[in-house]
Amino acid sequence: MTQKRIRVRFAPSPTGPLHMGGVRTALYNYLFAKKHGGDFILRIEDTDQGRFVPGAEDYIIEALKWCGIEPNEGLGFGDGPYAPYRQSERKPMFRQYAEQLVSSGHAYYAFDTPEEMDALRKQAESNKQTFSYDARTRMQLQNSLALSEAEVKQRMDNGMAYVIRLKVPQGESIIINDLIRGEVVFQSDIVDDKVLLKSDGMPTYHLAHIVDDYLMKITHAVRGEEWLPSAPAHVLIYRYLGWESDMPQLAHLPLLLKPDGNGKLSKRDGDRLGFPVFPLDWNDPFTGEKSSGYRERGYYPEAFVNMLAFLGWNPGTEQEIFSLEELCAHFSFEHIHKAGAKFDPEKAKWFNEHYLRTTESSELGAHIKSDVQQTFNIAEDNRRLSADYLTKAAELLKPRVQFEHEMKTTGAYLFQAPDTYDETVVAKKWKPELRPFFEGLQAALAALPAFETAHIDETIKSTAASFNLKPGEIMQLLRVIVSGQGGGVDLLGMIELLGQTEISERMTRALSRIGQ
Ligand code: GLU
Repeated sequence: MTQKRIRVRFAPSPTGPLHMGGVRTALYNYLFAKKHGGDFILRIEDTDQGRFVPGAEDYIIEALKWCGIEPNEGLGFGDGPYAPYRQSERKPMFRQYAEQLVSSGHAYYAFDTPEEMDALRKQAESNKQTFSYDARTRMQLQNSLALSEAEVKQRMDNGMAYVIRLKVPQGESIIINDLIRGEVVFQSDIVDDKVLLKSDGMPTYHLAHIVDDYLMKITHAVRGEEWLPSAPAHVLIYRYLGWESDMPQLAHLPLLLKPDGNGKLSKRDGDRLGFPVFPLDWNDPFTGEKSSGYRERGYYPEAFVNMLAFLGWNPGTEQEIFSLEELCAHFSFEHIHKAGAKFDPEKAKWFNEHYLRTTESSELGAHIKSDVQQTFNIAEDNRRLSADYLTKAAELLKPRVQFEHEMKTTGAYLFQAPDTYDETVVAKKWKPELRPFFEGLQAALAALPAFETAHIDETIKSTAASFNLKPGEIMQLLRVIVSGQGGGVDLLGMIELLGQTEISERMTRALSRIGQ
């Protein structure tokens, strides 16, 4: 038997910005497709028009592009042989399948109005129960199973609104072989008669995704755990449409959990604890509310993707740093956990820090240029904006930051002379007798023919020796004099980078202020 080509889809509903859990679903689909040389498809499931949010579709496309996990088929990615990939545009296709199920006795028309349904729900709630449209209740309701043929015809002729519902049998065991959870057995008695086609002629998710997965030759449906309870109804729909042998293999991914406590990770947790839950910034078109994204917070897409991959999966080894190609090579469903994955915002930063440290300093320098220029209002021809200067600054700052944008704050003294001097260090270390030493050092440094770390080091040591001072007495003060701060990047590297003229000017200025 020839192996079927692997085809997976990411099928978000455009109801808002893509949550990072959604991005992880897309990522696992992508990894699985790439590992097997298959297709990764983007399908927009927008049949619930009441929940449509303008801008959400573009956001999804842009987020996938930023992450580097681009579908090779589907909306926004050049389409493909099964277009359209926006479900609402496929609307006319779905009715025939719903009608086919009615004709074969596996579905029925239901005329219950939204008000009647609401009343039934409320009544059940007041008895501390949940209303379920199913084998136990359907014969007391307004549908083509309970009503006579004549009554049904009359309602249809009068143009009364109706939905089509799946007729779920009683007393059956429905078995699902989930790629992550293994065999899961459901009793059909707990499955309700799901709506397949709504009164506006739009299919629900349940019907639409099945028809589309079938028509688009999807081999694996990899999706969030929240869909597991609906899976038995889906098996029945496949079966009744005669497609069971083509049913995609199911894989239900574990939930992303709050960093603290239990429960699903939500936007509120991000707001509360100060981390983004969305890949990109999002402005809610209805409320105007802004939510921040990983991209705008300064995360590298590689770090974000690497971090996401580990939320629910591990390679089975200690290795944590994986490029996208490596993830593709190592990915498998066997190493996805069943239990929810606790999100750790500190770990996310750790991944970014790692990627920053392994980025070439020249690249980092180029990245921070315009930010530095604007922040410190530096003229274009100033040497601090030269590639050489920025590369060296980045090299010095690299071990001390987690994000590129932190370089300008952490290392502000590399771009701007200090205005203040660490008072704690000054109070502890400054003695009036040190003035002649620093003046002597300033002169010696200014006289150096080559301003390089080795010579600078040598000059500091010999000047200190001639004043009978130990390094412990002067080094931190020298740092404060040059940078204003008691701690920071490598001192000699900083002095060399700032240069002879700047160091001399900074020393004059500091010595006129400190100890006065
Ligand atoms: N539209 C569904 C969602 O947004 C897709 C679920 C699936 O992948 O089947 O969750």
